[in-house]
Amino acid sequence: MAKIAILERKCTGCGLCQSNCPFGAIDMKNGKPDLNAACKVCGICVKNCPEKAILKLETKVDSVDKSKWNDILVFAEVSGGRLHPVCLELIGKARELAKNVNYKVKAVLVGSGVSAFAEELRHYGVSEIAVYDDPALSYFRADAYASCVEDYIKYAHPSVVLVGATSLGRSLAPRLSTRFHTGLTADCTKLELRENTDLVQIRPAFGGNIMAQIITTNTRPQFATVRYKVMNPPMRQEEAAGNIVPRKIPKAVADCKSSCVSVQPIPPKQSISDAEILVVGGRGLQKESDLDMIKELAQLLGGDWATTRPLVEKGWSTNDRQIGLSGRTVRPRLIITCGVSGAIQFTACMNGSDHIVSINTDKDAPIFDVAHIAIVGDLYEIVPALIKQLKEAQA
Ligand SMILES: Cc1cc2nc3c(=O)[nH]c(=O)nc-3n(C[C@H](O)[C@H](O)[C@H](O)COP(=O)(O)OP(=O)(O)OC[C@H]3O[C@@H](n4cnc5c(N)ncnc54)[C@H](O)[C@@H]3O)c2cc1C
Repeated sequence: MAKIAILERKCTGCGLCQSNCPFGAIDMKNGKPDLNAACKVCGICVKNCPEKAILKLETKVDSVDKSKWNDILVFAEVSGGRLHPVCLELIGKARELAKNVNYKVKAVLVGSGVSAFAEELRHYGVSEIAVYDDPALSYFRADAYASCVEDYIKYAHPSVVLVGATSLGRSLAPRLSTRFHTGLTADCTKLELRENTDLVQIRPAFGGNIMAQIITTNTRPQFATVRYKVMNPPMRQEEAAGNIVPRKIPKAVADCKSSCVSVQPIPPKQSISDAEILVVGGRGLQKESDLDMIKELAQLLGGDWATTRPLVEKGWSTNDRQIGLSGRTVRPRLIITCGVSGAIQFTACMNGSDHIVSINTDKDAPIFDVAHIAIVGDLYEIVPALIKQLKEAQA
């Protein structure tokens, strides 16, 4: 841990620290610098102070005994009466990571009537499935669910806890990490496990311009959330293995402050994340009605359509059709991008697709770095030609 200290005695109030701070974390009060909450302790002010009046102080933090925290725990989310597929993807990744350090992979199920899903999880290579099954857990209440998972973490001491970055997971994971006073990295796109059991949690940062590697050095467990469709699910094994362990519901569930008054289910909607084939329109489209040919091509291919963020900002499309860091992650078998430049905020969330075909007039467009088939040309010629050919083939 580090902190910044200002030696008022030496400070001349020149203001250089304030103008050099990239985070706007220094205010000048009564002619002297005053740090605000935006400070990241980057130390740029320390380097730039001509009077050496700013210091970076390192404080030693005690580390937990890491050898007492073992194995990887996956939160197996059940929502809408089904096991969310992201949990299988997490199990797949957990199994890969566990091999490096001889860890086991465990899963925890929470809800009402969830025991049935434990049997299915036995086909995916987990050694233990803890089950908290009770009518009091019928509907997701963050505090009640957190109490169950907390109970299991206290019992099993996992080194790593992986949670899907779904609406439910995004509500649950921070509550848990706060209860254990430990770190959580949201929306990881890559995970690695070091020999010393530190989890390297990799995710885009600063608007997607860098890939940050985040490590929870001193505390355990290490919490990470991962979006759906980022990792690969494992193959289902014919033989079932792993123990199902029914767990007693902790008393904290009965003491929960929240209760469920009524539930109004939203009809399930097709998500672009589930599409096998996607046709994507970007800012290369000149007007809203030109999106019609993107939709038509998608329909002829039996797929769905999506867009980049600028088209959502123009009001031509909606956020649930946006691919990217601030939209959805997709991994279809085929994706055709039309007039998309390939900014990192877009490609980071589609570059796992099986086949990427990109149409762009600019031969140097970054989208061609991830494309398997690059078509340098005008989408207004190529897309109608594809539509014509498909129609002819169908006729
Ligand atoms: C924090 C943050 C989060 C972001 N999140 C997202 C996100 O989730 N999703 C997202 O998409 N963006 C996101 N962005 C924006 C991103 O940086 C890009 O600005 C955006 O992806 C560009 O969209 P585009 O490719 O459609 O447009 P442009 O970059 O303008 O590219 C248009 C492309 O079309 C080509 N073109 C033009 N005419 C034709 C034609 N007739 N035929 C063929 N090609 C043609 C051009 O050569 C160009 O390459 C985010 C940015 C930030 C800072």
